[in-house]
Amino acid sequence: MDEFALIQQYFSGIGTPSQQVVLGIGDDCALLAGHTGEQLALSVDTSLPDRHFPAQADPWAIGWRALSVAFSDLSAMAAEPVGFTLALSLPEQDPAWLQAFSQGLRAFAEAQSCPLIGGDTTRGPLAISVQVIGRAPAHRVWRRQGAQAGDLIAVLGDLGAAYAGLQSLLGDPELARDRHQWGAVEQAYMLPESRMQEALRLRDQVPVTACIDISDGLLADCQHLLAASAVAAELDLAALPIHPWLKHHWTPEQQLDAACEGGDDYALLLTLPATAWPRAHQLCPHLTIIGRCVAGAGMRNQAGAPLAPRGFKHF
Ligand code: ADP
Ligand code: MG
Repeated sequence: MDEFALIQQYFSGIGTPSQQVVLGIGDDCALLAGHTGEQLALSVDTSLPDRHFPAQADPWAIGWRALSVAFSDLSAMAAEPVGFTLALSLPEQDPAWLQAFSQGLRAFAEAQSCPLIGGDTTRGPLAISVQVIGRAPAHRVWRRQGAQAGDLIAVLGDLGAAYAGLQSLLGDPELARDRHQWGAVEQAYMLPESRMQEALRLRDQVPVTACIDISDGLLADCQHLLAASAVAAELDLAALPIHPWLKHHWTPEQQLDAACEGGDDYALLLTLPATAWPRAHQLCPHLTIIGRCVAGAGMRNQAGAPLAPRGFKHF
């Protein structure tokens, strides 16, 4: 099969094109309609075997995950999906792998109304780059910058499970092959869920002042938001929304380490004025207050002890 037949067979018709997509796969570029008063949000993420997923992992989950982690950046800016492009480097043509991979992509794309509108296909070591495109009213898009002293700091989603899932998959490589064998933590790592619906609900009804998605670890990502906003944080570590599985299986110390420094949960960390809390909590019951912004720089716990922004770093 040549690359055009491959694209046709596996990658056409993924997700229903939204109104904004004037032209999708098949020409030199995709074309998007622009709307007055809106901003377009673009972000790209590359997923590599044995770095972002076990090489032998269930290909359905690899497809889901590659799109889901890129999509999380749109949720973090409260930019609703327009579409995505896929740059794929493949070592060989393995129809069973491609079929399952494309079905995983499709499942996420359809659930989130985010159609595949273009891409690139080459032969080479396995590498999956997903570029997502979103849009938001210019005055409502969320940034890392904007948190004010006095704002509450909240987490949307729970923490620590993805780290536990990664440990489990590293400890038992065979387990990665079949997603039907996974429990809650393996699913949390390989099949992170979208926070888009909640983000858009908040965007339209609550004055969120700043947001970031937690991909490298709570403390590391929180520090990015604080630095961009030029404020400090007082965090209540006892209030962290630790995933229930960890509470049953790990010591309190392990739970805290996973929640603070483990990455890959793709929860959202956001700030909002205290007056907006009742409405926000009503719209998003999974939102948990974990601290507040104060004047200054850096993070400290409630006893005033400094917290180091440790988390995952590639280099
Ligand atoms: P060009 O050589 O003009 O860059 P290509 O031959 O690479 O175009 O691709 C042909 C069409 O197929 C383009 O519309 C491109 O966006 C699309 N395409 C290529 N690879 C993929 C893929 N993996 N997924 C989705 N669309 C793809
Ligand atoms: Mg061309």
